[in-house]
Amino acid sequence: MASSAGYAVPDSSGRIVGLFPAAKPFSVSKPYRDLGDFLACHFEGKVQKISINAGFTCPNRDGTCGTGGCTYCNNQTFNPEYCSPTATITEQLVKGKAFFARKYPSMRYLAYFQAYTNTYASVERLREMYEEALAVPDVVGLIIGTRPDCMPNELLRYLAELSRRTFVLVEYGAETARDSTLQLINRGHSWAHTVDAVTRTHAHGIMCGLHLIIGLPGETTDDFRATIAAVAQLPIDTLKLHQLQLIRGTRLARQVAAGEVAVPQWSAEEYVEVCIDLLRRLPRRIAVERFVSQSPAGLLIAPRWGLKNHEFTHLLHRRLAALAATQGDLL
Ligand code: SF4
Repeated sequence: MASSAGYAVPDSSGRIVGLFPAAKPFSVSKPYRDLGDFLACHFEGKVQKISINAGFTCPNRDGTCGTGGCTYCNNQTFNPEYCSPTATITEQLVKGKAFFARKYPSMRYLAYFQAYTNTYASVERLREMYEEALAVPDVVGLIIGTRPDCMPNELLRYLAELSRRTFVLVEYGAETARDSTLQLINRGHSWAHTVDAVTRTHAHGIMCGLHLIIGLPGETTDDFRATIAAVAQLPIDTLKLHQLQLIRGTRLARQVAAGEVAVPQWSAEEYVEVCIDLLRRLPRRIAVERFVSQSPAGLLIAPRWGLKNHEFTHLLHRRLAALAATQGDLL
């Protein structure tokens, strides 16, 4: 860890249960706090995430809290090529490392448990999986993606212990703060689940991120702003945004084709304006990891902007500069 300075994290009784690193102020030349700024608080040198598919399933697919999954979800869309559930966690990390180490031999890595719900197993089994990842040389921490209704206190107690010896960030898929939208997309949890999970995670002294989808069916600019306002009240460290993507074979694609629901038809430039509007309402203590996501072209119905993520970011930066806008400047 690069820095031990930070702020104390009390539990509900005022007992200090953790210490979070102080957020370094970002340079005035940067319009927002990005993932690099956040990681620089914790590590010296380059750190790269490696996505892992550890073969989990999802309680919103197997009947535990729902069936059929979220209406927009096709899990094939968020696994990089080097990620295969037939390979062990160690094999996936070694393969991922080889991919990056060619260019950056001194790189260190964060094991990113990404696919499906990466806390959906017994604590004993999860402990084995996380420790297997941490035993791989140059792996210096974990990022664990999960649902907010899938984080028992027993697991939080283990992760709290783990986070005292290594970097641990839990990333919850919140998607929106609007409960009627969560119902419409068959998400299987409410915004209250997100508030509860984030509050308990923070109280255990564990870093926490959220994931939101911008442009879910039925939502307006006011709804996006309300979600950001709700997110701003939570003790989170990182935020990922991405545009709603309409994916082949999903229930949402069928609903849109049948005219049952409508989704935004934004151009990239229009979506840039949406992102900037939200960024300007987001406190500067929260690092924004990304604004867009790119599903494989063969699966993507819309939007088809033909832009790589860094090209979209370039558009966003140019527009932020033209507006002289920065993160949180409307707060
Ligand atoms: S988006 Fe996540 S929670 Fe929803 S069905 Fe897919 S894997 Fe499950």
